[in-house]
Amino acid sequence: MSEERSLNFIEEIVEEDIREGKHGGRVLTRFPPEPNGYLHIGHAKSICLNFGLANKYGGKTNLRFDDTNPVKEDTEYVDSIKADVKWLGFDWAEELYASDYFDKLYEFAVELIKKGLAYVDDSTAEEIAAQKGTPTEPGVGNAYRNRSVEENLQLFAEMKDGKYADGEKVLRAKVDLASPNMHLRDPLMYRIRHAHHHRTGDKWCIYPMYDFAHGQSDAIEEITHSVCTLEFIPHRALYDWFIEKLDLFDSHQYEFARLNMTYTVMSKRKLLQLVDEGHVEDWDDPRMPTISGMRRRGYPAAAIREFCERIGVAKRENMIDLSLLEFCVREQLNKSAWRRMAVLDPIKLVITDYPEDKTEIFSVENNPEAEGGDGKRDIPFSREVWIEREDFMEVPPKKFFRLGVGLMVRLKGAYIVKCHDFVKDADGNVTEVHCTHIPESQSGNDTSGINVKGTIHWVSVPHAKTAEVRQYERLFKVEDPSNEDGDFKEYLNPDSLQIIETAYIEPDLMNAEAGTAIQFMRKGYFTLDKHSTADKLVFNRTVTLKDGWGFKG
Ligand code: ATP
Ligand code: MG
Repeated sequence: MSEERSLNFIEEIVEEDIREGKHGGRVLTRFPPEPNGYLHIGHAKSICLNFGLANKYGGKTNLRFDDTNPVKEDTEYVDSIKADVKWLGFDWAEELYASDYFDKLYEFAVELIKKGLAYVDDSTAEEIAAQKGTPTEPGVGNAYRNRSVEENLQLFAEMKDGKYADGEKVLRAKVDLASPNMHLRDPLMYRIRHAHHHRTGDKWCIYPMYDFAHGQSDAIEEITHSVCTLEFIPHRALYDWFIEKLDLFDSHQYEFARLNMTYTVMSKRKLLQLVDEGHVEDWDDPRMPTISGMRRRGYPAAAIREFCERIGVAKRENMIDLSLLEFCVREQLNKSAWRRMAVLDPIKLVITDYPEDKTEIFSVENNPEAEGGDGKRDIPFSREVWIEREDFMEVPPKKFFRLGVGLMVRLKGAYIVKCHDFVKDADGNVTEVHCTHIPESQSGNDTSGINVKGTIHWVSVPHAKTAEVRQYERLFKVEDPSNEDGDFKEYLNPDSLQIIETAYIEPDLMNAEAGTAIQFMRKGYFTLDKHSTADKLVFNRTVTLKDGWGFKG
């Protein structure tokens, strides 16, 4: 849990409303994803905010699919969104769909036509754009704007009945062509789309625009606080206009700054390109900023919630450092992850004075940081062990507290060993490191009186199991790929995935379970990948142990 923090500006608004008894002190928020892609960390911020408000003030949150655009939407996305929200730890009051309101929205449109506040326009999209004016020049009306109520009612009914082709006509709100707010210059309410909808099938060939669907959906559900991102500020006047003219429940829109994060992109359109063009494996590739990718990579839901809490809710856009998210992940995992030994870049260490046929079993704590060590597991030890290549140096520099001829180190949970020799192959690569051990130095029972500065991890050669290990780096080479010249994909990091085909792991790792975090000692936090099988274990590196980029939480 994070320390007490002051209220964010939306909480202040909600508290004020509760004090004033607005809506009877009731709080109902909604999270309104468009099911046209998988959720990303930016959506997590919106989810934590919306559900967080409801939890804090005894309210509820609806999950509403904003499915008014039939062309890009799909039930696959609906299912993934539900799974992601649940995994983040939130329960919605009702699962709703804007498409459920299509009949109601149609009635609202008819009502506005009857009030002389909406009209059918036969102009092309280009003509409408040209007539709209510019921010400094007012728009101009056209002849369609003066159509009679009767004619509008008939044409709108014909649009609905499929009499016209896509783009032939639109329904527009009659607001104010001279408004300084371009969104009020007779915005579109309906367009014709002869397209199959993932829920309503072929029932409709006219679909409401976002501006006509969103606020009306909020009002139908009696949403008290409709929270969205800053780009909707200019839409707010229209949101209020429709609600006022239709005399609906007075939902209100409040805007906060969207989350932007370094070294990634955050728009579903761009993420879809990465998937479709094969730059990543799928939406849940562990390098993706998607919630499903982060889950697969091993980020705990609690770390994502903590991250959203720490970044707060701002009124101005900014760029959050990816390192902050990684910091939150480490902080969570350090508390809970069991420690295991895995050698990723192996070299053989032979203990020349240890009997060839001997095996000892050492019992080592699962997590020394946890109270009571969180239980123990058995680790077999023998004459030959794998160690990391980087833990030996032919010509060790001063203060190298690992191995080199004449140097001593502790093998974690086992003995202190002293190096006396090494073997090279014809190419000059070191293939074996030879040591003797100090029998009295056994961990937990050390009477040797010898102090060594370094402890290294190892895996017994005859007992070692193997696994593939996938190490991930930043997906992009630059902080803000969307803001660079040219295509954002030119800035993909070619080294964002490094695969180690064969790493040696201690035998207990065969019991690892998907979704459980494990610390490979000195190497990072890892978790089993979903493609892992009993025959071939695959581990994803969740995050390194330390930040390599100088970030301090
Ligand atoms: P994208 O541009 O990535 O496709 P979107 O805004 O079109 O995102 P929606 O499905 O419409 O995606 O968003 C659902 C909710 O999540 C909206 O209320 C939206 O404002 C919010 N949201 C989307 N992206 C972010 C972000 N980066 N930070 C905070 N909230 C976001
Ligand atoms: Mg959207």
